[in-house]
Parts: sequence; structure tokens; C-alpha cells
Amino acid sequence: MTWGTLMSRAHGMCEFCGGMDDCLPVEVEGAGEILVCAICDSDPPVEHWRCLESAARSEVPEVQVAVWRKLGEIEAPWAEKIRSGMALSPEAQALV
Ligand SMILES: [Zn+2]
Repeated sequence: MTWGTLMSRAHGMCEFCGGMDDCLPVEVEGAGEILVCAICDSDPPVEHWRCLESAARSEVPEVQVAVWRKLGEIEAPWAEKIRSGMALSPEAQALV
């Protein structure tokens, strides 16, 4: 995927938290690329990942896969709750 395609899909915003600072493409293993901001890419405090509640509603399979995996790494009841409420697309389901 080109930078331009990724930027326009993500509207120039982090596909995890919607932040606009220093967004860069990040490889989602086996799925493709997503646009992620410097904060999300820097191992932020667990509470930052509450942003995934809205990211979980993304219709982009790559984002769904990335959110699903990230939530699986977080040991908190709210993370499990967001994860169990996700409606994964068939493409994403094949990858998680
Ligand atoms: Zn972010």
C-alpha cells in the first residue's frame, strides 16, 4: 500500500487513537499496514488503549486485526469487554 493510499484511508489520523502527531505506517503481521501515531507506537500507559474502544468499530480489516491483537495483550477487564464486542470482518477473522 502506498503512503498516499494509507493516509487517505486513515484520513491522516492514527487508526488506533485518532491522534495526528507523527503518524507513521506500522506493519500488522500478515495483514498489511495501518497508520499509527508516535504515542501509540511508543508503548504508552495501559489507560491510553481505551482509545481502542472506537478503533474496534473500524471497518478496515487491518485495523480490526491490529486492535484485536493489541487488546489481547492488555490484562484489564475493559480490554476483554471491548474485544468480545468486536464484529470482525471475514478477512480479519481469517487472520486473528
Ligand atoms: Zn495513536
